[in-house]
Formats: sequence, structure tokens, C-alpha cells
Amino acid sequence: MNNHTKETDGDHTGRVLRIERASIHDGLGLRTVVFLKGCPLRCRWCSTPESQNPLPEKGYAQERCTQCGLCMENCPQGALSFDEAGKNVLTDREKCVNCFECVRICPSGAMKSYGTFMTVNDVVREVEKDAVFYFHSGGGITISGGEPLDQPEFVQALLRECRKHGFHRALETSFFARWEIIEPLLPLLNLLYVDMKHSIPKDHHRLTGVDNSLILENIIKADASEYDFDLIIRTPLIPGINDSEEALTEAAVFLKGLEKLKEVEFLAYHRLGTDTYAHLGIPYPLNEIKSPSRDFMLSKARFFMSKAQGIPVVINGVPVNP
Ligand code: SF4
Ligand code: SF4
Repeated sequence: MNNHTKETDGDHTGRVLRIERASIHDGLGLRTVVFLKGCPLRCRWCSTPESQNPLPEKGYAQERCTQCGLCMENCPQGALSFDEAGKNVLTDREKCVNCFECVRICPSGAMKSYGTFMTVNDVVREVEKDAVFYFHSGGGITISGGEPLDQPEFVQALLRECRKHGFHRALETSFFARWEIIEPLLPLLNLLYVDMKHSIPKDHHRLTGVDNSLILENIIKADASEYDFDLIIRTPLIPGINDSEEALTEAAVFLKGLEKLKEVEFLAYHRLGTDTYAHLGIPYPLNEIKSPSRDFMLSKARFFMSKAQGIPVVINGVPVNP
């Protein structure tokens, strides 16, 4: 690779939601997880609604607001006002241009921003801070989202830079993208997580807003590809939504023949993103559903295993005995 290419890769700019260090849940060893902005799916259980919008955006945490009024005094667009009770700051989304002046000025952290623009070099500098831990734990970088395939050129450049640094590289994706976007990324990966949200086509469309046929097709193509990476399928298990015997059997039948498949991971549904829905002013669609117990997860995992003989299963990173 020549110097010109090096510069081009490092200068690519992406839309980054946040970078989390020392994660133990998203690949081998200790990981630095780079969450990107933008997602074409609208899963009803999404725990990171702040990742859906492709651009950096602003939120408001009413519970931290002291009603000081500084944000509205300093908003250059006149987009902010109090509600009638004088308790809530309201944003006129037609006027707001996401300049984040209100976020900078807010003394209590009630105004907050989600996401920023970063170059590949900016991200790699962050990732490098953890390099010593990768060496000892076998860890590396995991690129997640949102949907990383929403920014394929940035992801490709970032993976190339990380390969140059010798970092183990994982990508987590819904795989809802054209194959032409996916294929160039595969030779750059050590580990591929594909989130399989629901195995029944009509339910997938109803619950995520998109068809799963393209996703399943991409899994088959990636599995049959010449590239050398491990595949892990991840499924968030949401009681009453995607955990029926029919759905688990359908998934098992589909996954049974895959060659690169290392394991299937079931993630217990949780409600950690519900505050963020409120901060963004978006209603939370699954209000009535509770997080499942460990016993519930185990019984679902064991049912799946009975239909997908031989596929190892983990629940939130912990292997399940058959
Ligand atoms: S982001 Fe900028 S335009 Fe939008 S409300 Fe805040 S200060 Fe006003
Ligand atoms: S500046 Fe912050 S604390 Fe003050 S009114 Fe605005 S949001 Fe509330």
C-alpha cells in the first residue's frame, strides 16, 4: 500500500455515535467498540435509538434541567422555548439546525448531543489507547451501530487501517445491504457478527420495517465466500415477539448448514434504552415487555439447540450446555 492510499484511508470521515472501551461482550478478549450513526432498520426493541438517525443530533434530559433558560437565550435559531408549565424545554425541530450551541452552554448536562464526525485517524488514535490490552487478551476493535454498512467506505478505510496496526477486527451488522457493499469488507475481517432479528419473513418486516430475504441471502453468500473469518449469529430474544417455537425452528433449519458459523448468541432483551427514547422525544414501542429471566433464556436456547444439533449456543456470552 503506498503513502497516498494511507493518507486517503486515514482522512475518511464517518459519523460516530460513541466509542466504548474495554468491552468484553463483542468479540474475543477486551474490545474497543466503535458505534456508528445511521440505520435503515427500525426494530421495535431497539436499545440505541440515538444510533438510528444518520447525523449527529441533540437530546434533552428533562430530569436534569434546572430551567435556567441559558439554552434558549443562546440558540441562534430561536428554536427553544419553555412549555406552558415552564418545566420542559421544547425544541422546534423545523428551526433547529443541530449546531449544538445549547449543548455547549447547558450547565447541567440536560442538553446532550448524540454522535459526532470523526476521521479514521481520529478513531484509530482512540483504538490505539487499548492496544496493550488487545495483546494480552486477544482483543481488538469491533465496529457496530446503528448499521456500519450505512457508511461502507468509512468502515472499509477503518478496517484497513486497523489491519495495518495488527488489530483483531470484528464487524457487527444487520446485513441489510447490497452484496456489492458487503463483499469488499469481508477480506478485512476476523470475525463477523450478523444480527438475525426474526426468522419469519412477515414478522421480520412488521417488526423491523424491512424484509429479511436480502439478509438471509447475504448470510449464505458470506458463508460460501472464500474469505477467512468466523461467523457469529446474534439474536435478541424478546418474549412474545421472536421466541416462538416456529421462529426458533425456522432459524435452526436455516443456520444448520453454515460452514463458518462458530456459534449462535442469544441476547436477553433489556430496557436500557428507554430513557434515551424520552430524551429524543420518541415514544418507546415495547413498553409492556419485561426483560426475560435466565431460566426463560435457557429454555429457549435449549429448544433451539434441539433443532440445530451441533451449533454451539451462548447467552450473553456464556456458553449453554445442551
Ligand atoms: S442545536 Fe443549535 S439550533 Fe438546535 S436548539 Fe440547540 S442551539 Fe438551537
Ligand atoms: S441550559 Fe440546560 S439546564 Fe438550562 S434550561 Fe436549558 S436545558 Fe435546562
